[in-house]
Amino acid sequence: MEKADIKSWNQKELEEFLVSLGEKPFRARQIYPWLHVRHVASFEEITDISGKLKEKLTEKCRIITLKQVKVQVSKLDGTRKYLFALEDGAMIESVLMRYKHGNSVCISSQAGCRMGCRFCASTLDGLVRSLTPSEMLEQIYRIQEDIEERISHTVVMGMGEPLDNYDNLLKFIELLSDKNGVNISQRNITVSTCGIVPNIYKLAEEKLQITLALSLHASSQEKREELMPIAKKYDIYQVVEACRDYFEKTGRRITFEYSLVGGVNDSDEDAYRLAKLIEGVNCHVNLIPVNPIKERNYVQSKEQVILNFKNKLEKYGKNVTIRREMGRDIEGACGQLRKQFSEREARP
Ligand code: SAH
Repeated sequence: MEKADIKSWNQKELEEFLVSLGEKPFRARQIYPWLHVRHVASFEEITDISGKLKEKLTEKCRIITLKQVKVQVSKLDGTRKYLFALEDGAMIESVLMRYKHGNSVCISSQAGCRMGCRFCASTLDGLVRSLTPSEMLEQIYRIQEDIEERISHTVVMGMGEPLDNYDNLLKFIELLSDKNGVNISQRNITVSTCGIVPNIYKLAEEKLQITLALSLHASSQEKREELMPIAKKYDIYQVVEACRDYFEKTGRRITFEYSLVGGVNDSDEDAYRLAKLIEGVNCHVNLIPVNPIKERNYVQSKEQVILNFKNKLEKYGKNVTIRREMGRDIEGACGQLRKQFSEREARP
């Protein structure tokens, strides 16, 4: 029988398991921080339980850990990009960004992705598999150990589509914000989605305090379909409507992400249509200069065009920021590092 993934359990599930082994319930409260705060790699390292319990745990459970394959450090802004190997050899990327307000980690929710967005490197080779809650948490734990500093913010904006891995994402958020774990406030967690509409409605019902970021990237259905195949399944109006519902149910302001692609979605007309499209939604627009990948011939909008786009939106009363580009010198865009690594490996 496959061993249980003990780091994907919340305290209640851990307790039920321990009770089933004939242990006292309080053992869960004792063991949980060893896994989620001290990040032990084996049950042997736990000092306050009996040898017999350690043996039982070792027999029935495994402690998922990631292997750091590579880290690239930006000379520009101290951003650190990590390549991690999962236990089955699949590769994922995570990024540490240092801000004045704290350390933020961008994590992957899947190895690869099946959404097929045209400008994104993570999706070029399709989906390998979804990550478990423990594998999502581990990205933060490993980085925290590496830099020996607290991580205060998490964005689920790395490889993969988080709402395509819904149950594991939810468990991950629960464990990440658990007071007995790393204890990252839900308000400091952002989940970014390409717009899987039914799951946005579902997420709204969970009444979490996380921020939802919606990758919009276009002002019309026609253009969005060109850039993002998911738009063929759920159209741009359905997506915006789901975001409106998310705000109404949770009171959390939506972030619309809009990657500016030179000559594709950056005209004055796009700015006007975008403003109309999101009219009345309590939101914030985050403009991202597209990070060109070599597999596609998309280019960044000129700086003046970006500023102009921002000004236009502001004139229409929108709240807009331009995302600071971090780690440009270290393959900052999602999936680029893994792609580059696998191509090098493949070369004789
Ligand atoms: N699947 C999720 C989260 C992962 S990507 C989503 O679609 O939101 C995080 C953000 O980066 C998304 O807005 C995505 O569209 C954007 N992105 C991906 N590749 C990019 C690139 N090369 N340049 C600019 N933005 C990119």
